Amino acid sequence: MTGLSRQRDFEGDRKLATPSQRDPQRGGDRRSLTYQETYICPVCRHGQIAALTLMDAFACDFCRHIFTANLPEQSIHVEDSSQPMTWRWNGVNWKAANQLDMDLTIVVWLVGLALVLLPPALIWLSSHTFPPMRGSTWAWFPTVWISLTFLTHFAFVAWLLAEHYQVPVYVTCKIRLRNAFGRQ
Ligand SMILES: [Zn+2]
Repeated sequence: MTGLSRQRDFEGDRKLATPSQRDPQRGGDRRSLTYQETYICPVCRHGQIAALTLMDAFACDFCRHIFTANLPEQSIHVEDSSQPMTWRWNGVNWKAANQLDMDLTIVVWLVGLALVLLPPALIWLSSHTFPPMRGSTWAWFPTVWISLTFLTHFAFVAWLLAEHYQVPVYVTCKIRLRNAFGRQ
C-alpha cells in the first residue's frame, strides 16, 4: 500500500517536473505560441524565452538572444545572430522553418573537407616520397605528425561546423565559458 502511494507520488512529481510540456487548461499536450507563456529557447535548448515587456519580442534568460515573433504563423526569428534563423512552434517543440544559406553551407563543407584532408595528404606524400630510414630514431615521426595534423585540422573544422549550424550543445558550452570568464 505504502509502496503504491509512493509510486503515485513519484509519478505526480514527474508530471509536475515538465509543466512546460503540458497545458492544464486545455488538458492536452499542445499549446500555442503566445506572449503570456515561456518556451524552451530554440538556440541554446537550455534557457527559457519569455516575452519582453511592452515589446512584441522574446528574450532568452540564458543565451540572451532576442527573437521577434509572428503569432499568426506561430514562428519566431532570431534578431541578433550571425545566422538568420526562424523556428515554427508546433505546439510542443520548435522546428527550424528556414533552411540555412545553401551556398554558404556548401562553401563551409568544401573548405572543411579540404582543410581536413589536404594537409595530412601532403605530409603523407612527402614522407612517402622520402621515407625515413628503416630502424632510424625518427622513423615514427611522419606517422605522429600526420595524426597530429589531421586531429588539429579536424578540431578546427568541427568548430567551424558547430558555429555554422549553431549546434545547441555548442552554444550552451560557449555561453557557460563566457559566463565563467566574466565576459557578459
Ligand atoms: Zn537561449
